[in-house]
Amino acid sequence: MISEKMVGLVKGSSVIRAMFEEGKRLAKEYGAENVYDFSLGNPNVAPPQAVEDAIVDIVKSEDPLRLHGYMSNAGYEDVRDTIASSLNERFGTKFSEKNIIMTVGAASGLNVTFKTLLNPGDEVITFAPYFGEYKNYVINYDGVLVEISPNTVDFQPKLDEFEAKITKKTKCVIVNSPNNPTGVVYSEETIRALSGILEKKQKEFKTSIYLVSDEPYRELVYGDVKVPYITKYYRNTIVGYSYSKSLSLPGERIGYLVIPSEIDDYDDVFAAASVATRILGYVNAPSLMQRVVAKCINETTDISYYERNRNTLYEGLTKLGFTCQKPEGAFYLFMKTPTEDDKAFVAAAKKYNILIVPGSSFGCPGYVRIAYCVAYETIVNSLPKFAELAREYF
Ligand code: PLP
Repeated sequence: MISEKMVGLVKGSSVIRAMFEEGKRLAKEYGAENVYDFSLGNPNVAPPQAVEDAIVDIVKSEDPLRLHGYMSNAGYEDVRDTIASSLNERFGTKFSEKNIIMTVGAASGLNVTFKTLLNPGDEVITFAPYFGEYKNYVINYDGVLVEISPNTVDFQPKLDEFEAKITKKTKCVIVNSPNNPTGVVYSEETIRALSGILEKKQKEFKTSIYLVSDEPYRELVYGDVKVPYITKYYRNTIVGYSYSKSLSLPGERIGYLVIPSEIDDYDDVFAAASVATRILGYVNAPSLMQRVVAKCINETTDISYYERNRNTLYEGLTKLGFTCQKPEGAFYLFMKTPTEDDKAFVAAAKKYNILIVPGSSFGCPGYVRIAYCVAYETIVNSLPKFAELAREYF
C-alpha cells in the first residue's frame, strides 16, 4: 500500500506529462508530422556546440577519479566560484562560491529550499498562473501553497491581493519571471513594489519572509527586455537557476541556488541547504555537468529560433481571432480560450491533433498554454488546423 500522501499526489499527477504521453501515442497512430504537440517545455534547439566540445574535452583531459567522484554536497568550489564571478560581472552583485549550491535542475533547487525553510503549516505564496509543480514541492514539506489570483490584464502580479494574503505564517514567496506559462517578464516596477510590501510585512510580523526567484528562463528573452536581478531589490532573496532551458539540457539535471550572505540566518540556511541536497537523495549535482556548465559559462541557446516561432505563432493565432498574451520571454504562449471551459477547448483542439495544456493546470482557467519550443514547421503546419478549430467558435 503506498502512502496516503502519494495517493493524492498520483491522482493529481501532472496533466502536462499525461499530454506528453498522449502526444507519443498520437504520433504512432498518425505519424509525428501530423501531430502538433505543444504540451511540454522540452527545448527543440540543440545544446550549443560548445557543450559537446566541453564534454569531450573534460572526459579526455581530467583525472577520472576526480571527475566522477563525490565532492562537497554544495558542488565543486571552482565551479561555484566561476558561476559567482559570472553573476557579479553581469549583475553587479558580490557573490562568491560561499553563495552558490549546485543543484539537480530548478526542481531540486526549489525542493532543497523548501526542505531547508519550511515547518509544517508554513505558507508559501505564489502568483497565478504558475508552474503546477510548485504545489507538490510545497506539499513535500507539509507547507501550504497560497495562490494570488491572476491579473489577466497584463499578467503582472496582483499586489493588493498579495499584501492582504501575507500572514505571520508566510515563510516564502515564489516568483517566476520570465514566466511559465505566460511568457511575461515581471517589470522592475513590479519587483520594487513587491519588495516594499515584503519589507513592510516582515517588520509588521517580526518574521523573515524569503523571496524565492525561480529562474529557469532568465536567458530566454526577446529584443531588449531586461529581467531584474532580484537579490538587488530584496535582501531575503534566494535564486534558483537551471541550465535545462538556457543550454537545452533538461535531461542532464543541472542548475544552482544563489543564497546571498545578506539573507537572515545565512550561515544556517547555507549549511541546511547543503545537508538537504544529501538527505533528499541528490547528494550532489552531477559532477561532469558541473564541469561542463562552468566551461560554457558564456554560452546560451539560440534565442532567435524561439523568437521566430513566437512571432509566427502569435501573428498566426491573433489573425485567426484568438486573444494572446505576447510573450516577452520563455517559450510559452498563453491564449484566452473562446469558451470559458478551457478543458473543453483542449479536448476540441485534440480532434485536430493539436495538444495544448489547459490554463486551469496553472491556476488560471479560461486560457491555454502553447509551448512553442517545437520545430518551426510544426508551427507553420499547425496554423491551418488552428483555423479549423477557430471556425468552431468564431
Ligand atoms: N520552474 C519552472 C517555472 C519550470 O517551467 C520548470 C520546468 O519546466 C522547472 C521549474 C523545473 O526545471 P528543471 O528542469 O530545471 O528542474
